[in-house]
Amino acid sequence: MIPFNKPYLSGNETNYIKDAVATGKISGNGYFTKKCHGFFEKQYGFYKCLLTTSCTDALEMAAILIDIQPGDEVILPSYTFVSTANAFVLRGAKLIFADSRTDHPGIDEDSIEALVTSKTKAIVPVHYAGVACDMDKIMALSEKYNLYVIEDAAQAIDSYYTGKDGVKRALGSIGHLAAFSFHETKNIISGEGGMLAINDKDFAERAEIIWEKGTNRSAFFRGEVNKYGWVDVGSSFLPSDIIAAFLWAQLENLKNIQSRRLEIWNTYHSKIEQWANSNQIDLPQVPGYATNNAHMYYLVCRDLEQRNELIAYLKSNGISAVFHYLSLHKSEFYQANHDGRSLPQTDRYTDCLVRLPMFFELNENEVIHQIKLFK
Ligand SMILES: *Cc1c(COP(=O)(O)O)cnc(C)c1O
Repeated sequence: MIPFNKPYLSGNETNYIKDAVATGKISGNGYFTKKCHGFFEKQYGFYKCLLTTSCTDALEMAAILIDIQPGDEVILPSYTFVSTANAFVLRGAKLIFADSRTDHPGIDEDSIEALVTSKTKAIVPVHYAGVACDMDKIMALSEKYNLYVIEDAAQAIDSYYTGKDGVKRALGSIGHLAAFSFHETKNIISGEGGMLAINDKDFAERAEIIWEKGTNRSAFFRGEVNKYGWVDVGSSFLPSDIIAAFLWAQLENLKNIQSRRLEIWNTYHSKIEQWANSNQIDLPQVPGYATNNAHMYYLVCRDLEQRNELIAYLKSNGISAVFHYLSLHKSEFYQANHDGRSLPQTDRYTDCLVRLPMFFELNENEVIHQIKLFK
């Protein structure tokens, strides 16, 4: 069976874990954690980074940082992972779901303004498949209505957006805050893991405190205060340095990982185009302002029936292809709180989208060979 995903190991993960263990300091914010922070800040222009135990945790930190209060409204796509939503629901926010674009599962930027009310506190765009949302439009709304923008960049490491000013910016460096994932299904992994990127300087100091259980422990270890204590709310959001050691081995191989994934993506894209056209299946589109980090290769089938047939056919031929999110506005947990607006594109991606295997060691030509026999 060709799996949907297989975690890639560069070979140095366990060596660096041994090194971390040998230092005798394996709790958080150690040698490898600092190395990772430095890498991300320098490579992608984030003002400050904090590794977390997951992207879910980074999103929860963001919700605490922007001080979400019960009744505050947060605008987010319905076609996303539950963590995008949970982080804000945990603090009492009301979710206002936006539909997806017709050409891409990302949030329909043009539909956001009509959803803004006096209670709106934040917009949470999700860079689906690592492809940028149109951030100029979203940041303009942020300025006009004084809203925070938190990028769910879980899938978007090493991907970029070029705005109208012609400047190419890394995803996760544009909103006030951004959350990344290093879960084993993402491009760069540490098993479970994540990161909060802080771009608004005003959040930097408090973020570090929330990260360290509400204490000013980090400032204490830098010698900035002579004792540390409880100064704010917080939790244990920082990962062990063992996790950071693993992640460092991945970061050293980032270029290699990305170029192989892109090669697979491009091979899929060119070799199944004709087959897709003749079966009325849509291939992924990357808008001109976005780069492609080859996080995912997906197809959008013409209907639910065709999508399910394709998944079953591939499965019977030893290939694991999988559907993705179920509309959150129709979820068992939240549907009663949704305002009843229909979100047709969200439902279309829920029913019709299927993801093909995508991982470093994949032989994509085996998948392509099989898929072309499906009619
Ligand atoms: C993977 C993912 C998450 C959650 O990441 P974890 O690190 O598993 O918490 C959140 N949002 C999106 C869009 C994701 O793809």
